[in-house]
Amino acid sequence: MMKNWILFFVLGLFWGCSNLPETPIANTEKLSTLPHDDHSYANLQQIRTKHLHLDLEVDFKAQTIYGVARHQMINKGADTAIFDVKGLLIQKVTLGDSKKSREKETDFTIGPMDKDSIIGQALLVNVDSNTTYVNIYYQTTTESAALDWLDTTLTSSKTKPFLYTQGQAILTRTWIPLQDSPSNRITYSADVKVPSDLLALMSAKNPTSLHPDGIFHFEMPYEIPSYLIALAVGDIGFKDLGSGCGVYAEKELLQQCATEFEDLPRMMQVANNLYGKYCWGRYDVLVLPYSFPFGGMENPMLTFANPTLLTGDKSLVSVLAHELAHSWSGNLVTNHSWSDLWLNEGTTVYFEQRIMEALSGKEVADIMALIEFDELQNALKEIQSSKHPEDSRLHLELVGRDPDLALSDVAYVKGAFFFKTLEQKVGRNALDKFLKNYFAHFAFQTIDANTFIDYLEQHLLNPLQIDFNYRQWIFGEGLPQNCIQIASPRLDQMSSYAQQFNAGSNPFKPQFKYKWIRKNGKRKKVKIDLSIHYEDRIIQEWQIFIRNLSPKTSATRMKQLDHDLHFSASQNSEVLKEWFVLAAQTSYALEIKPAIENFLVKVGRRKYLMPIYEALNSNPKTKQMARDIFNKAKHNYHSVSRGSVANLLNN
Ligand SMILES: [Zn+2]
Repeated sequence: MMKNWILFFVLGLFWGCSNLPETPIANTEKLSTLPHDDHSYANLQQIRTKHLHLDLEVDFKAQTIYGVARHQMINKGADTAIFDVKGLLIQKVTLGDSKKSREKETDFTIGPMDKDSIIGQALLVNVDSNTTYVNIYYQTTTESAALDWLDTTLTSSKTKPFLYTQGQAILTRTWIPLQDSPSNRITYSADVKVPSDLLALMSAKNPTSLHPDGIFHFEMPYEIPSYLIALAVGDIGFKDLGSGCGVYAEKELLQQCATEFEDLPRMMQVANNLYGKYCWGRYDVLVLPYSFPFGGMENPMLTFANPTLLTGDKSLVSVLAHELAHSWSGNLVTNHSWSDLWLNEGTTVYFEQRIMEALSGKEVADIMALIEFDELQNALKEIQSSKHPEDSRLHLELVGRDPDLALSDVAYVKGAFFFKTLEQKVGRNALDKFLKNYFAHFAFQTIDANTFIDYLEQHLLNPLQIDFNYRQWIFGEGLPQNCIQIASPRLDQMSSYAQQFNAGSNPFKPQFKYKWIRKNGKRKKVKIDLSIHYEDRIIQEWQIFIRNLSPKTSATRMKQLDHDLHFSASQNSEVLKEWFVLAAQTSYALEIKPAIENFLVKVGRRKYLMPIYEALNSNPKTKQMARDIFNKAKHNYHSVSRGSVANLLNN
């Protein structure tokens, strides 16, 4: 066993990224033996894309992308190639290599939409057993849900428009006709034409300045799953942060972004030291306009980030640590299907917490982990009383269901606590070594829960002769009893302040004491401030304080607290989210409606929208307010957020 271990370790180093070629990597001819992905029509076992070239023209006036998706394919003798499409207009399909002028039109059919319009339609293209090039001529439509076209009023410049895409989980098929399954990894290249005063960026090697003709060429030389293909176009500038990291943003936000994210090179160094060398060349972050529905999206080489991270005090940079960690967990080793999203996200949250621990210390990292654990417990309660109590398992059954359902605290936080508990059991050194080898071994592959389990047994548990209830964690509901317990005296203190407040006292009212001191031979009375100030605590401490306040707090006392601690005027969106939820529960929302409305009209991040709208909708006194604000705000949201809030308010 020991011999094998050493052999594996040596091979692992070679399989890892240190030896990656600079040129595109050809897909292995081997076809996957893992089960079919239920969220794709693609017949990957017969024919599959290995390289995709995109010829695109971005037309802001028509809010349409006109394009050709040129698929270079591995064909095992298929007579039909099946692609996923949703909300696309297919004009024609040709076979043959366009570079050799050998394109020939072929027949195609588009299948019916699935019952709940979740996975879209199958595009069936007639091919023959020798076909290796399929070219699909198409255009996007208003139903292309991945695309967020922002007119000038929604951008920082107020003079130039903006476009970005969001592919995860299965939205790439709404802007590119392709085999949209994470189980198939492809390389891609693109030629993209945009207005000449705008910069185009992709999840690829990127430009840093405008091109006079507005045509940009992109290469992604590493194999990625389709949900990681991304495009953004806008009045975007670039600032280098050193060590191969940089930030892109609308020019008005650029300096603010560079200051907020200046620790990125340090994060990169920590990540490299933990789990092996970063494999993707450069690592840049693009800060998008406020409508972006997520905190961040791990598009390789170019994380897309939400401007709500710009707090001025770096208090939310853990989101960047998360997206950077995805360069290993998720992007390098990818879930085979959305049923195992926890393999992407649980590993990433664990990794993120390790980066934050190295940067901010264990006490702060524990506070962050506990905040998330608190959210997980609420999520588990909701899941338990829902129609699908089995959704508290890490491995999910998603047949016929929207894969976005997997994007819950279970995959992220229960997944992270699985690794934290495992760390407690096997020791940090052993887990770190295991994870480093795991990323190297499965680099540029997709895996499922069973593949992970085999590897876990063979390379961690069996060699150390350790029993660990991983089956209960992965396939069982709720949280196993051996889940690691974390304590934070600082958060306990904040809960205690909340209890004091709930009991009628106010620990935050201004408090002073006077003391006599001797100065220059004279006695002098000085005033000492004993009050607790907002800036004395970190954001996460205030989150726990607000969460522990009673929803029965009177509006008068809410107002008093707001006066002492200025929550409604906070620049931090995490604090605002907690405060607005409580304000809705206590009906104090009626008094601070302008602040709530400003936030909901400006910010499109689903993490904030959902709890605030839900709280407003649940209180009969603020139900109408939720609808009024949504009607004003919905045009500012990406379709992902708009759809989620609309569902919530209609139920
Ligand atoms: Zn993530």
